[in-house]
Amino acid sequence: MGGRKRKKVVKRVPKRLPTVFSCPECGGKAVRIDIDREAGTARVKCGRCKLEALIPISSIESAVDAYGKFIDDYYGGGKFIVQRKAAQTS
Ligand SMILES: [Zn+2]
Repeated sequence: MGGRKRKKVVKRVPKRLPTVFSCPECGGKAVRIDIDREAGTARVKCGRCKLEALIPISSIESAVDAYGKFIDDYYGGGKFIVQRKAAQTS
């Protein structure tokens, strides 16, 4: 009789979606996304350069999807961008 083998305890790491994303404007990893399910929008905001966008999302879309749309919009005209730092004149 050797006693029961102790069950191996496997630490469960909850899989979490990234909540901070990289900013296409300043390059900082400071973009946060707040989803408003009722309004059907995601507010994308960079804590570094203050770039801000309001992205329309569907009810099944998550922050990652909103970020993808934000990036597309940023490089495709920026019609969802509501605020950005003073445009640099070249
Ligand atoms: Zn930024």
